[in-house]
Amino acid sequence: MSQDNSILCALDIKDNNMRNVSVKDATIKNRGVIKHIKIVSADLTYKLYRCPQCGLNALVKNGKRKTNARLASFNGIEYHLVLNKQRYICKNCGSTCGAHSDLLIKNHTMTKQVQNRIFDMARESFTLTSIAKIIGVSVNTVSRILYDNIKLPNRCNVLPENLCFDEFRSVNGIFTFIAIDAQTHHLIELIHDRLSKTVTEHFINNYSLSERQAVKTVSIDLNANYQMVVHRIFPNAQIIVDRFHIVQLCSRALDQVRISCLKKISDKHSSLYKALKSNWRLYHLPEADVDDKKVKYIFGINEYTTTQNVIDIAIDRLPIFKNRQIL
Ligand SMILES: [Zn+2]
Repeated sequence: MSQDNSILCALDIKDNNMRNVSVKDATIKNRGVIKHIKIVSADLTYKLYRCPQCGLNALVKNGKRKTNARLASFNGIEYHLVLNKQRYICKNCGSTCGAHSDLLIKNHTMTKQVQNRIFDMARESFTLTSIAKIIGVSVNTVSRILYDNIKLPNRCNVLPENLCFDEFRSVNGIFTFIAIDAQTHHLIELIHDRLSKTVTEHFINNYSLSERQAVKTVSIDLNANYQMVVHRIFPNAQIIVDRFHIVQLCSRALDQVRISCLKKISDKHSSLYKALKSNWRLYHLPEADVDDKKVKYIFGINEYTTTQNVIDIAIDRLPIFKNRQIL
C-alpha cells in the first residue's frame, strides 16, 4: 500500500483520484482562540477528454484550483482538507470545468463525512451544542445541515380531540412551543416561538373553526398565558392543569418549609435534623409507599426503625410541617 493510500485509508476517504496526499500540523486563530489543527493536502486529478458542453474530445488540462473543506474528526482535533482540483478547458468551445470528488458537497465547505457524522450523532440524541463541540463546527452549521432540507408541514392532518401544550428551551435559549396528542403522544405542532400571539395566529391560520371546535381538552401547566390562548383557539375545549406540574409545585412548597425548619434547628446531630436532612426523600413518598411495619436500618438516624417512624419524627415535633405535609 502506498503512502497516499495509507493516509486516505486512515482518514476513511474512499476516492482513488486523490494523489500526493500529505498531513501536517498547523495552528489557526478563530475568534481570538488559537486552535491546533491537522491540514490534509491532496491533488484531485483524473483523465477527462469529453467536453460536458459541446461533447467533443477536446479537453486539455488548465491549471489547478484550491478548495478548502472540513473532514470528520476522530480524536477531537479538527481536520481541514486542502484539495488542489484539476481544471480543464475545451479547445473547441472554450468552456472550462473541474475535477469533482464525491467527498465534497457543492457550495459547501463540509464534506459528506462531516455531514454523516452529524446525522449519526443526531440519531443518538446528542444536542446541537454537543455535536458542534465534538465535531468542531458552529451550532448554526449543525442546525443548517440537519434542518435546511427538511420542510415540516404547516399543519397535521387531523387535529386530535385531546391536546397537551408545553414549552421547552431549545438552542440559544430560545423557547419553543410544543403541542402533542394527549393519547398517542405524537407530535402535533412545534413553533419556534412561545408568544401567545404567534401560537394563536398559527392555529387560527392553519385550522378551520369547525376543526378547532372539535378539540375537547387541552392539558397545560399553570402558565396563565396559555389559558387565554386555549379559550381563543379552541372555543369548546376544557383546560386541564397537568398533574405533573401540580405535584411539582406541592413538592417545592414542602421542600421550602422543610429547609426553613432545618435552618432553625441548632443541634445538627439531633434525630430531627438528620431525619429532615438525610432522609428528605421519605417526606415525598406517596402514602401507600410509607411502611409502618417493616423495620430496616435508616442511615443518618443510624438505628433500626420503620419509614413511618422517621416521618413521624418531624411531623410530631413541627406542627407547621404536619400542616404542609401534603404528599
Ligand atoms: Zn467544448
